Amino acid sequence: MNTKNNECCCKKIRSVAKLEIQYAHRFYGFKGEARYLHGHTGTLKLEVEDTVNPGVNMVYPCNEIAKTAWAVLRNFDHALVLREDDPLLTAVLSVYEHEGVRNGTPTNTNKGPAFRTSLCTAYPECRVVVTRETMTVEGFIRIVYDLLKDKLNLVKITFKSGSNTASAEFPSRLTLDRCPCCGIALKDGVCPKCGYRKSQGKCQG
Ligand SMILES: [Zn+2]
Ligand SMILES: [Zn+2]
Repeated sequence: MNTKNNECCCKKIRSVAKLEIQYAHRFYGFKGEARYLHGHTGTLKLEVEDTVNPGVNMVYPCNEIAKTAWAVLRNFDHALVLREDDPLLTAVLSVYEHEGVRNGTPTNTNKGPAFRTSLCTAYPECRVVVTRETMTVEGFIRIVYDLLKDKLNLVKITFKSGSNTASAEFPSRLTLDRCPCCGIALKDGVCPKCGYRKSQGKCQG
């Protein structure tokens, strides 16, 4: 247990969250059956590393990792993910247009904020995500890291979809000030969940 410096060997630990994403895609131009439109339930595993936050004895609450990730990744759930040059995109959007659902319906409520990154653009109103590259498991990991890297100190992402799995490790690069009462990242020194202020340094109740 003790190292040379008398430090605990598990000073840095990981909190891990898992999410399920159901989506449809195809590998446009690929020589194989994946060229045809099909769907998956993908399992995304997010590993966040930090010291243990003494107030709550956690690295980061796992449900809060999932919540932070889901706020943007929900746009991939029950979505059609197509590469930007895939002609199916124009075809599908024209059917949605014709059907009157291109710009949303009252029952399409599982929507996150629309986003555009260098890797993809989300159109939550019609549950379509347009990607620069084919959405493989490897490609999705790059998209996820890019979307979440400034919100969570992600050091490993694993994505399993059908019989394909990919994983990637990333350097620890964020040091987040976390609330000692509920464990989540403070925003400008204030906990968005319980109102704890770093300057006052006391948990309520
Ligand atoms: Zn597939
Ligand atoms: Zn708090």
